[in-house]
Amino acid sequence: MSDGRPVDPVRTTSASDGDGASGVGAGRVGDGGADRADDVGVVEATSPDPSVIDPVTATHPPVTRRRRHRLLRRPAFAIGDVEVAAGRSDIGQIPIARLVTGNQISLPVNVVHGRHEGPVVWLSAAVHGDEIGGVEIIRRTLADVDATSLAGTIVAVPIVNVHGFLNGDRYLPDRRDLNRSFPGSPTGSLAARLAHLFITEVVDRCDVGIDLHTGSDHRTNLPQIRADLDDPRTRDLAIAFGAPLMMHAKLRDGSMRAAATSTGSTVLLYEGGEAWRFDRFAIEAGVAGVGRVLARLGMTSPTDTPVGLDGALATPVPAESRSSGWVRVRRSGIALLDVELGQHVERGDVIATVRDSVGRRLSRTRASRSGMVIGHTQQPLVNQGDAIIHIAEIVGSPSDGPVESSERPVEPERAGIATSARSTRPPGAHPPDPTETEAHP
Ligand SMILES: [Zn+2]
Repeated sequence: MSDGRPVDPVRTTSASDGDGASGVGAGRVGDGGADRADDVGVVEATSPDPSVIDPVTATHPPVTRRRRHRLLRRPAFAIGDVEVAAGRSDIGQIPIARLVTGNQISLPVNVVHGRHEGPVVWLSAAVHGDEIGGVEIIRRTLADVDATSLAGTIVAVPIVNVHGFLNGDRYLPDRRDLNRSFPGSPTGSLAARLAHLFITEVVDRCDVGIDLHTGSDHRTNLPQIRADLDDPRTRDLAIAFGAPLMMHAKLRDGSMRAAATSTGSTVLLYEGGEAWRFDRFAIEAGVAGVGRVLARLGMTSPTDTPVGLDGALATPVPAESRSSGWVRVRRSGIALLDVELGQHVERGDVIATVRDSVGRRLSRTRASRSGMVIGHTQQPLVNQGDAIIHIAEIVGSPSDGPVESSERPVEPERAGIATSARSTRPPGAHPPDPTETEAHP
């Protein structure tokens, strides 16, 4: 914001229309009230900026008209069934398809259309229907955004895979992985149609996107950004996000990130926590990170953003990784992990012990590489070959950080990111391997 004035979060929350029914429809273009009356209402009721509500203007009508003209100049943002005036927020619906019952289902979209010009950013969650953490990240983020001071527009789609969300399922009813179905097509499978709808209705209208994910299948992830760190703009935003780790992840066919990048968007993929759970640390890291990206883009002032909630983000400079891999157990049994998310391990360290049902030790599991623990199973009962701990090699940090700063060349190894062999798996044909499912390249 140009004024740089700190904004009281309590006031901005109550003033924002983002919290549902109270603001729905208010101030929409074409609503009965005259533009003049509507504008006066916005300015006098909610603007925090004394330079905008300048009492002097009362005695200088020409200045007032110019200012009002400027405020009204930003066109409304139309999406789905809503048209949102500048300085307002609203909730709309984009029709997807009908359920087998005949009920129409839609993508719920929450738009915050800032009064001032700026980037258009989408926030998406639950592309995998069981990954609900991002829904809460979006809710908290929008509660802190004030449309009257926002520069730009936020298009939030908290539940992209509505079918999966309803069914408690990662996938769509046809067992397809939505995040392998982009850019989709209007005449393809249900997943392809939904992907196409999201691209055309949301992504094509945005400059930047943040897609929010969690671990899957009883695995939890350290808060981390996965992105093309070789792209300077993407890298800049990944650093701004300030998650504990940022992972270079190549673009992968069929992913939202690949499709959106090909059309010119800058995309960050956030991973944190686990499916079907609200992980407090991952949600707070996500809210803080999204807030920092919005500030970095100049859409909000840095003072608007909840940085370092509870000291959870001790370091705002992420560690960087370009290679990771899962460690598997050699024996079936009951596994006890000896490491936590974010912990540094050395190759050969004992990181888990597998015992039988009466407590006899069957095997020790050792770290296959040195690095940071960025994911692990939450399921103590393991079968031989199960992937239980995900370790990322740390190759440097963008500035003085808590990690070594060796300028090692990029590892060609792709374990933990993607493998060409696995990429040939038909969509949703089998329960996914964690080395693939938690990559979300
Ligand atoms: Zn996911």
